[in-house]
Amino acid sequence: MAISEGIARGRAKIYRHTPIAVEREQIAKSQVEGEHSLLDQAFRRARTALERRKGGHLEGEALEILETHLLLLQDPTYIKSIKEMIEEKLINAAWATEEVTRGIIHTLQASDDEVFRQRAIDIRDIGDSIVVHITGKGAHPSLVLDEPVILLADTLLPSEFFSLDRSNILGLSLDRGGLASHVAILARGLDIPTVIETHPASHAARDGDDVIIDGIRGEVIIRADRQAAQNVIERYNAYLKHEAELLEGASLEARTKDGKHIPIQSNIQTLGELSFAEAEGSDGIGLFRTEFFFMERSTLPSEEEQFRVYKEVLERVAPRSVTIRTLDLGGDKVVSSLNLVEENPVLGFRAVRFCLEHKDIFLTQMRAILRASAFGTAKIMFPMISGVEELKRTLHLLETAKLQLKKEGASFDPDLQVGTMIEVPSAALVTDLLVPHVDFISIGTNDLIQYTIAVDRNNQKIAHLYKPLHPGVLRLLKHIVDQAHRAGKRVAVCGEMASDPCQAVVLVGLGVDELSMGSHAILKLRKIIRLLDLAAAQSLVEHLLTLDSSVKTEQAVQEWMHERFDDLTIR
Ligand code: PEP
Ligand code: MG
Repeated sequence: MAISEGIARGRAKIYRHTPIAVEREQIAKSQVEGEHSLLDQAFRRARTALERRKGGHLEGEALEILETHLLLLQDPTYIKSIKEMIEEKLINAAWATEEVTRGIIHTLQASDDEVFRQRAIDIRDIGDSIVVHITGKGAHPSLVLDEPVILLADTLLPSEFFSLDRSNILGLSLDRGGLASHVAILARGLDIPTVIETHPASHAARDGDDVIIDGIRGEVIIRADRQAAQNVIERYNAYLKHEAELLEGASLEARTKDGKHIPIQSNIQTLGELSFAEAEGSDGIGLFRTEFFFMERSTLPSEEEQFRVYKEVLERVAPRSVTIRTLDLGGDKVVSSLNLVEENPVLGFRAVRFCLEHKDIFLTQMRAILRASAFGTAKIMFPMISGVEELKRTLHLLETAKLQLKKEGASFDPDLQVGTMIEVPSAALVTDLLVPHVDFISIGTNDLIQYTIAVDRNNQKIAHLYKPLHPGVLRLLKHIVDQAHRAGKRVAVCGEMASDPCQAVVLVGLGVDELSMGSHAILKLRKIIRLLDLAAAQSLVEHLLTLDSSVKTEQAVQEWMHERFDDLTIR
């Protein structure tokens, strides 16, 4: 899987991560206190080490990731659980740390959420650093890069990545890792051509081998022959030309050839992503997923903390708008302090269902968003609404928040636009009943597809059944758009469909007014929209609606696209 575009060629350097060995030792009751203070000291030292690193020349995502690690280290429940284990089981601090850390990792890895699964490696990193400071033994074998290399690792912890001289990494291949892993994010931020999930590349290559990392196709070519190398170079040149063209379009309006303006906005979850969105010429933020701010910490953020974050985003994005989505917590997106474990989390106690039962949390967030709305163009929207009753209860709470603020004399935007997400089939079917209560709707196709086809969006075993162009999904989308338009309300899409060129043209053909996506796709979609004839996209959709299977709809769209766009644009 390519995660950072570009191509690099150089000599291979193989790195194998070795887990730290920890031994279990039984201790006497009288030693408990000693182990506790050993632990306190280790936490302090690990923190100091991170602070020192933070004092270096880090910025953007790297800094944010370090701060996340610092927050994890400061999590009082973490150290408390370790201390309790020492006391209850009478075991040494290093082993207790390992046990508790492993427990957290296990929970994270069982999550349906890719981002959570990827946080397991961060917890491993923190756990290791504490064990190292308890035992005084060295950490992982050090990896020194004194010349530019292509690094082929089985896995890399963020701390290992931080300790490397990154200017000597020409390209990176990770046998494991995931799109949402912090090392992947760091590599992308540094523009290092990177391919992940390359198992068994680090075993197939040897130190010094000639290796090409093709971060466009997602290939690692070991000991390439002349022809293979030549092919890659040609692809690279085509890619550079294509990139230059896309960049030229960054400041141009995304308007179809026949004149419909389709704002292309960004989905973000952290402040660190803002500058990237900016650089890609985003037309604002169409989805600010606020739950991540809640998840990477052990206590709930206060109204003031939330207010500051929302305000900063709004100020930086102004005059363009920011659509802030209220908490989509619960189920698979777990906050440690709220302890939510369910049999069937995706159909469970999540998002507004959770918030309406925790009105204090909901109200605090609404107040923070409202207060921040005075500093830019804010919109608010609610996830997982399943029907009118839920929406009304949510809107009632929003009114309560407004009344409270008015009484307190706090200012907020009185015209703040309010929207609902449509991501549950029941909501989709009653769009006409929902829209009178809101200013806009935003379709969360990720969830809408999973619920419509009854296919878990995170389950690899059934990934082949997850079909955005399924005739059932297309009919439902058409129903939503038509009903909203009948009431004169705008329709956005903020699910992944918006970022896929083949699917986005279908959305536009269906009448969708705005698209919001990961910023990496913005330039490409802007180009597509500018080359698109809306009337032709509408005819395509009419044809698609007559087809009886996703095999046929997909094929029809692909053919249609190949007639109109070049290969790189479609990919
Ligand atoms: C969606 O479901 O399409 C969506 C945008 O929300 P999330 O991916 O955060 O569930
Ligand atoms: Mg969703």
